[in-house]
Amino acid sequence: MALDLLPYAYFEGQFVPIEEARVSLTTHALQYGTGVFGGIRGYLAEDGSAINIFRLPDHFRRLRNSARMVKINLPYGVEDLCELAIELTRRNEPTSNVYYRPFAYKSGQNLAPTMYGVADEFAIFMTRLNEYYTNTSGLQVMVSSWQRLPDVAIPSRAKISGSYINSSLANTEAKEYGFDEAIMLNERGKVSEGSASNLFLVRDGVLITTPVTASILEGITRRSIIQIARDMGIPFEEREVDRSELYIADELFFCGTGVQISGIGEVDKRPVGEEYPGPIMTALRNRFLDVVKGKVPEYREWLTPVPIASPIPAQ
Ligand code: PMP
Repeated sequence: MALDLLPYAYFEGQFVPIEEARVSLTTHALQYGTGVFGGIRGYLAEDGSAINIFRLPDHFRRLRNSARMVKINLPYGVEDLCELAIELTRRNEPTSNVYYRPFAYKSGQNLAPTMYGVADEFAIFMTRLNEYYTNTSGLQVMVSSWQRLPDVAIPSRAKISGSYINSSLANTEAKEYGFDEAIMLNERGKVSEGSASNLFLVRDGVLITTPVTASILEGITRRSIIQIARDMGIPFEEREVDRSELYIADELFFCGTGVQISGIGEVDKRPVGEEYPGPIMTALRNRFLDVVKGKVPEYREWLTPVPIASPIPAQ
């Protein structure tokens, strides 16, 4: 989907109109993919008076970890990063749900694919965002012929710009074959995750997700769902998953900041379970959507509310 940008970005140490946030052709990150990024959602409060940013410090902790793994220098602490995102929200005065894209990257030039001696920069922009998938009646997915990149090649748990070639190949292949999305296996042939999301399945009433050692990105939505499921008393296992288990799962769904909780109706042309949407996914999704909208007091600490100066009622 095309970006629907908000007017201001944080770029090279200043808040600037988004049109002025431009980099040179010679930028190392553009040539070699030497950047790390985040994706964070902000939900417009029902009365339009604030944006509730979901797990903002946790997203910036992961960004700092991603930067550390690949030696990108990010000279801002988690609190500074949160403050920048909050200030950008104030300046943009959103009137819809939004998505933040923080980006720490090698902004200098160097012919060598090295991290040493190349300058770093940090930027954030914002775009409006509602649903990620147009198909809301059960995604049709395929197991990709592309493997999820192994941690021994590129750190899979880091959100590295260059790594998204792997996601793009899987996603593009799936779309070209008429599917909505791909599921990738890892280098050991075990189930890993989607092109931009983690994966859960339900078998015999047990919620299951692939482990952090399955070459997945350590998703913040995944972690939130595990916590919510535990609090709801849903039996849960984090374990290796075989491809053939996808074919006999009762329920299957992706989760991530963009996709939120998106149910899968068919995998490799086999219908998932007896009914769609299944009861456990439905219960988790309803609860999750209440949580992100600030309707559940126990999880309010996951939200960073940013009051909007001139509130416009939500549609
Ligand atoms: N895996 C990949 C490859 C992703 O791009 C994303 C989206 N960031 C996720 C999983 C889900 O992570 P999160 O819940 O933190 O958005």
